[in-house]
Amino acid sequence: MTREESDMIDHRRLGRELDLFVSDPLAGAGLPIWLPAGAAARHAVEEYVRDLERRAGYQHVYSPPLGKRELFALSGHLGYFADDMFPPLRLSADDEFVLRPALCPHHALVYRARGRSYRELPLRIAELGGMYRAERSGVLGGLSRVRAISLNDAHNFCALDQVGEEVREILRLIREAHAALGVRPAGFRLSLRGPGEKYVGDDAQWARAEELLRAALDGVDFTEAPGEAAFYGPKIDIQIVDAAGRESTLSTVQLDFDKPERFDLSYTDASGARRRPVMVHRSLVGSMERLFAYLIEVHQGAFPPWYAPVQLVLLPVDAGQAGAAAELARRAVAAGLRAEVDAGGSLGARIRDAAHRRVPYVGVVGAREAADGSVSLRLRDGRGLAPMPVADALGLVGAVVAARSTGLLPAAA
Ligand SMILES: [Zn+2]
Repeated sequence: MTREESDMIDHRRLGRELDLFVSDPLAGAGLPIWLPAGAAARHAVEEYVRDLERRAGYQHVYSPPLGKRELFALSGHLGYFADDMFPPLRLSADDEFVLRPALCPHHALVYRARGRSYRELPLRIAELGGMYRAERSGVLGGLSRVRAISLNDAHNFCALDQVGEEVREILRLIREAHAALGVRPAGFRLSLRGPGEKYVGDDAQWARAEELLRAALDGVDFTEAPGEAAFYGPKIDIQIVDAAGRESTLSTVQLDFDKPERFDLSYTDASGARRRPVMVHRSLVGSMERLFAYLIEVHQGAFPPWYAPVQLVLLPVDAGQAGAAAELARRAVAAGLRAEVDAGGSLGARIRDAAHRRVPYVGVVGAREAADGSVSLRLRDGRGLAPMPVADALGLVGAVVAARSTGLLPAAA
């Protein structure tokens, strides 16, 4: 790929052109603002992920993006991760708060909020939550490296003998989410401990966790990366590559024996004995920021219809059809679609504008269509469909959206 080509599909440039997000120096480097179009796409993806998790037995919570210093001392983050964190916020000498660098400490408190029985395990606590990293300003750009992160996160608390099946099921969910979003992973990576002091836990715990992850990767092609483990355990990372060829981690599954110890988490087993659960940290699609940096580039802004910011633009040929186009847009919105009318300027200019915005469906309403209640659909890829009744057109777009297809026509058409 040449420099110009990689520039063409750079997500920062497309993000500007498509009004998806803005990085304003006054807001701060690495603190992008999602504009309405970007927020609409992100909202659709968040709803999808939440629904996928709910169907897979996850329970969602909300927890605050900052907490008392002591919480992060207990979790080990202040000891092992302080370089990546913002300095504590001090209200008074004995009252300091930390912008959290991870959601795990709060989710450990969710687990600990009451006694737990083996019958509740695996207990899957999920949240799309805010967290912060004190990235140096030199490495920040667009959505791919940010300081405020919205992570698709969950912590699955299980008995040791449930871990293998739990990790395999997480890998299945990751593949399902990738297929719906159009993510094409560059590879799977088993991230292991490297030399040095930056790891907690004893050798036996690390060996057992590594063995469990290797077993879950049976039949999967993967590479090994010593030194890339989390400070508390080994992990499976699913890698993506951006337009400039840089590799980063999108999805991840991590085993942790350490935090259950630190937070003294337990459950009562079938015989009434107190047992320690294992904590599995996992993200199906990573942070919304990194995910969208990738999706913008891989689709060159032309998102699959189900998360396109605007799915259908209606173009009255002239002022006489403005009422019919507005009525059609109203019906589309009532049917759950994101639709709008563009009535200004020449028809050709409006068609080009919709193409520039990568809108998947353009509905042209001329005098004949307005008179007989039909619409002519033009697809983003240049195909045009014969005029069809409005209900059929809405049915067609609705079917593609509902199926979360990456194509523009229903599978049967
Ligand atoms: Zn975690």
